[in-house]
Amino acid sequence: MEQRKGRRLILFPLPLQGHMNPMLELANILYFKGFSITIIHTNFNSLNPSTHPHFTYHSISDNLSESEAAEKDLLLLLSHLNTKCFEPFRECLATLVSDVSKEPVACLISDPVFDFTQSVAESLKIPRILLRTGSASFTAVISAFPLLEKKGYIPKQDSRLEEPVTEFSPLRVKDLPMINSSDPERFLKLVHNLTYETKASYGFIFNTFEDLEQHALATLRKELHIPIFPIGPFHKCVPATTSTSSLLSQDRSCISWLNTQAPKSVIYVSFGSIATINKAQFLEIALGLANSKQPFLWVVRPRLVHGSDWLEPLPGRFLETLNGRGHIVKWAPQKEVLAHQAVGVFWTHNGWNSTLESICEGVPMICMPCSSDQMMNARYVSDVWKVGLQLQHRFERGDIEKTIRKLTVETEGDQMRDRLSKLKDEANLCPRQGGSSYQSLNDLVNHILSLESFVYKT
Ligand code: UDP
Repeated sequence: MEQRKGRRLILFPLPLQGHMNPMLELANILYFKGFSITIIHTNFNSLNPSTHPHFTYHSISDNLSESEAAEKDLLLLLSHLNTKCFEPFRECLATLVSDVSKEPVACLISDPVFDFTQSVAESLKIPRILLRTGSASFTAVISAFPLLEKKGYIPKQDSRLEEPVTEFSPLRVKDLPMINSSDPERFLKLVHNLTYETKASYGFIFNTFEDLEQHALATLRKELHIPIFPIGPFHKCVPATTSTSSLLSQDRSCISWLNTQAPKSVIYVSFGSIATINKAQFLEIALGLANSKQPFLWVVRPRLVHGSDWLEPLPGRFLETLNGRGHIVKWAPQKEVLAHQAVGVFWTHNGWNSTLESICEGVPMICMPCSSDQMMNARYVSDVWKVGLQLQHRFERGDIEKTIRKLTVETEGDQMRDRLSKLKDEANLCPRQGGSSYQSLNDLVNHILSLESFVYKT
């Protein structure tokens, strides 16, 4: 723990699991660097202050109606949050900034998806730094959306899906980021906002590291002209803690179950906090896993499967017939699972957090991307870092079985593990003294401390 800096940072996470986790990890990192931390959070997916008692919390009312809070269209939900949080957030931030009984506020760190935070920060003369929870490559691609639209790659046309995007090799048109919505314009609007807001901020923090995304980081530095701080992997930057920002409670029975399994034998299956699948897909996954003959740990979130509460579509006595070879939980302590010696393969949807967590533990991936940046993360995993395989036909039990075998009993898995062992070492070394993320974090701290004179003198 470093000496206290006498400055407060205000962090405002987007209330989605894959955005809250890295924001809370960042809060821990900056707390250890000597800053006081205040978190503003929404009622929707509200945080539990007792998990990180060293922070101060302020909850704002997002005023979402019951139907808005249950909205399945992610972009529509984000649009409701952006409209309804604006005023409560502005009031809360204004109160915090004017509170002279506390340490002065050095800056706001917010998620760029909350697009109103820039204008609020400007109106209160508070510098704002952005935490990008996706990869640097994702940010590079969405920053180039105007060009990609001009070239006709976007909106995606069925006839061009396999075409290479030469500006971003090895991406193909089908890999470009996209979130389906009832209004196709909504995603483009989000991307435009993200790009505009980026340029107006005082810096960009990434949960990534130089050795992993050197090229994308260099591109961003050249094109964005704002300071870039790749200080990840966040969870390797602070001492491991048991504190969690999980919205669902973690079922630790899976750790006891993993303790009974042979080293590197288990397929860990999880599709993150948002992705959903249909019943037919669910069944193919179940049968593919069963037929693979490998042990598996499967996270089936409540309502992962359309129209089902939980496991109802599974064939009767599915788990019993496997004699303990399969274990299903609603939510797992994922980082601990991936670090467990019994886990040999991660079947993932390739959300950025999951992808990075898998790389950090040297676990090869089976990629089943669903939406947003996941398709391009999966392409990087399979074609750039070469540490995973994409499920070609996605949901056919024979393909699933074949892909699992390639990574478990055939040599392909070992070759990937060799490549991963280098990345894993780099991921673990870069936050230590002399490493790139260590240096970048010190640069970030100095940058934050310099912002005061920078902003208030203008
Ligand atoms: N996660 C977890 N337990 C689970 C599944 C996921 O703790 O059973 C965590 C995972 O470690 C990651 C986050 O939830 O930090 C999911 O983020 P990601 O970007 O991978 O996917 P998203 O949920 O945003 O689609």
